[in-house]
Amino acid sequence: MKKLLIAVGALILLGLSVFYGLLPISGDRKRNVVIAHAPYEISTEAQALHDRLMVADLHADTLLWMRDPLKRHKRGHVDVPRLQQGGVALQIFSAVTKAPKHLNYEKNTADSDVITMLVQSQRWPFATWGSLYERARYQAHRLQKAAARSDGNLQLVLTQSDLQSLIADHQNGGDRVGGILAIEGAHPLEGDLANVRNLYDAGYRVMGLQHFFDNELGGSLHGVSGAGLTPFGVEAIAEMERLHITIDVAHSSEQVVRDVLALTDRPLIVSHGGFKGVCDVKRNIDEELIKQIAERGGLIGVGYWQQVTCDDSPQGIANVIVYGVGLVGADHVALGSDFDGAITTRLDTSELAAITQALLDRGLDEETIEKIMGGNVLRFFAANLPQ
Ligand SMILES: [Zn+2]
Repeated sequence: MKKLLIAVGALILLGLSVFYGLLPISGDRKRNVVIAHAPYEISTEAQALHDRLMVADLHADTLLWMRDPLKRHKRGHVDVPRLQQGGVALQIFSAVTKAPKHLNYEKNTADSDVITMLVQSQRWPFATWGSLYERARYQAHRLQKAAARSDGNLQLVLTQSDLQSLIADHQNGGDRVGGILAIEGAHPLEGDLANVRNLYDAGYRVMGLQHFFDNELGGSLHGVSGAGLTPFGVEAIAEMERLHITIDVAHSSEQVVRDVLALTDRPLIVSHGGFKGVCDVKRNIDEELIKQIAERGGLIGVGYWQQVTCDDSPQGIANVIVYGVGLVGADHVALGSDFDGAITTRLDTSELAAITQALLDRGLDEETIEKIMGGNVLRFFAANLPQ
């Protein structure tokens, strides 16, 4: 009997150590993959240009994973040391709070959620287990805590003047990384309008309206309804507009995009994706809508993964960018990696000079490369963050 109890106890301990110890790390390693490759060859000219750039990226899901963002890791795509190596001055950190089982680009219901198990195995606070709102608050807290102990290497950017101080640091030769908080899908509002303000107070300055499933605000590009904005969505947009929160329609149904365009004059972003003209998949939204977003002063962030580029090499990414510049002009194309968003890439954020090289190889001039690699995003937030 005693032996049996010891055996059962040992099994339980083993189970717990796998669940809390190995599962989060192996999950991170399995989901956020960089395909092994020889180091990219960067010419002296490309490296010199890259070193002069202030790189900015519209989308990374780094806060979801139990990795200290201040330490360099061998897994995943993004941490502060690798951002600094890649010349990244501004990173949008998006908070994922709920995701369906298979992350289909075609169709998902809201019934399943793989984030709950991740949250539990990573030992997030108990309040986050059952509340999407608390999951968003906790991810904001993680970035704030990291910034506070970063020795000035990581700065939360909340206002136009925060951004100006970040730009000044880089002009003086510094390499501080600025972080802007975003939610990926506005379901953490939990249907309560007051939570727009509450999440703003928690530090959020960008709100993606949908993620992989239809939510209280409207239809997802990968949902089942294809619906536009709901009455709650309309109210939430007005509140976001009032607070100068930037709206991201990267995963929204085309009808939601049309509704938002009809409702607000403020510029929108598509934080991560590609163009149907290069890669005709459902994940990439209609080019007529992309053009309208650009005409309003918006930005399209180009992702690096195979399913949106149809060629995930640096040359393939450059190909998408060059196409985008032809479609909407150099002022509206940006980087939107989706790093750490459960994707596989051929580079991590420390290797972004490979994209600068590929853009030079395609014959883009320095001024255009500077805009795409970060200038457009810096200009956008300098104008659209709260003062
Ligand atoms: Zn996404």
